[in-house]
Amino acid sequence: MKEQGIKLFFCDLDNTLVPHFKIMPTEEVLKFIDNVRAQGMTFVLLSNNFNKRVRFFAQKSFIKHYFGMVKKPSTKIVKKFMKNHNFKPYETIVMGDQLVTDILMANRLKLESILVQPIMNTDLKLNSLNRFLERWIYKKLEKNNILIKGEYNDQWFESKNQEKLL
Ligand SMILES: [Mg+2]
Repeated sequence: MKEQGIKLFFCDLDNTLVPHFKIMPTEEVLKFIDNVRAQGMTFVLLSNNFNKRVRFFAQKSFIKHYFGMVKKPSTKIVKKFMKNHNFKPYETIVMGDQLVTDILMANRLKLESILVQPIMNTDLKLNSLNRFLERWIYKKLEKNNILIKGEYNDQWFESKNQEKLL
């Protein structure tokens, strides 16, 4: 990412860094955030959860920039942050576990994104419509051999690319 010129790292909280019911960061999460910063990137925590939860987690993780109630896939807060801190879309990446919130928000702004496997499969914050949409999209992706939820690994991806080349 550093070689690609990424300077701004937007990161989801629930089920991306910790399960939605965990209020404290783990050692692993703290190390991850440190690693991102060590590459000269600005780390921003971005959550649809309540401000209180997000603020507490950010403070315990020494995260300076954090936003709760973001209402992803709304792009408002991200756009404003990028404008105020003068980051360009090609310098920015979004990481999250949900297609219809995190990844859709990234796509709407034409930002690169990283889709992670949710830590827990039951996210109470995810409403039934989003759950339905996620399932429907994953079904389509699987049918077209693009992505199988929970089955992604480098070997799988390579074999798919080789199939395309042949
Ligand atoms: Mg999430």
